[in-house]
Amino acid sequence: MTLTTVRERSSPNHQRRSGSARIDMLVLHYTGMKTAGEAIERLCDPAARVSAHYVIEENGAIWRLVPESLQAFHAGRSCWTGGSDLNDVSIGIEIVNPGHEWGYRLFPETQMAAVEHLCRDLIARHPIPPHRIVGHSDIAPDRKSDPGELFDWSRLARADIGIWPPPAADLPQRRGRGIGVIERAAALADLAVIGYCVTGGDETVVVAAFQRRFRPQRWDGRLDAETAQRLAEVRAAYDRAR
Ligand SMILES: [Zn+2]
Repeated sequence: MTLTTVRERSSPNHQRRSGSARIDMLVLHYTGMKTAGEAIERLCDPAARVSAHYVIEENGAIWRLVPESLQAFHAGRSCWTGGSDLNDVSIGIEIVNPGHEWGYRLFPETQMAAVEHLCRDLIARHPIPPHRIVGHSDIAPDRKSDPGELFDWSRLARADIGIWPPPAADLPQRRGRGIGVIERAAALADLAVIGYCVTGGDETVVVAAFQRRFRPQRWDGRLDAETAQRLAEVRAAYDRAR
């Protein structure tokens, strides 16, 4: 598959990138609508004021709605490593899935292969470092839960897309155990180093966003010993990658 197989459909929901902007971030979403057709209609509806650069259907078909040189309206109010205005510096990909509201389900292999292919192409053409490949819930944890806990980040990491270190084998024994004050402070620091914006908001939703992505077996937002250990592992991987 090459990107010449991308289907074109134009969304009016875009604007110029600012003069100083360079594309160095990739944001993955799910559409969260009943069908792909409905999602694409909405992403092209001027009244909705939302869009994405790409949409990937469950059968692997890729649509381009907004040229990469322009801003698409996909991130909304969001934050990563202290930066806001993320639409200006990012490319947004909407991955078709009904989402938690309409029957969240596994992302089919054909679709994941297309996601992988498109991401690799984008990384090859833009200076997007691994630590700036994120899910929508990572950058807007109080509002969003996409692409969600069924999204296979480990697969993408094996293809050198983003960061997802394999968990240490002893993690399950620590599940549910509480942590002390010092361990807790370290865990919150780890979240911030990875890129999560913790200050000022509800810390539980940020922990839940981390869990959805890096410990998808349970995303209760509790900073338990297993989550703290996973945070340390993931932070170390981010440190190595930077
Ligand atoms: Zn989203």
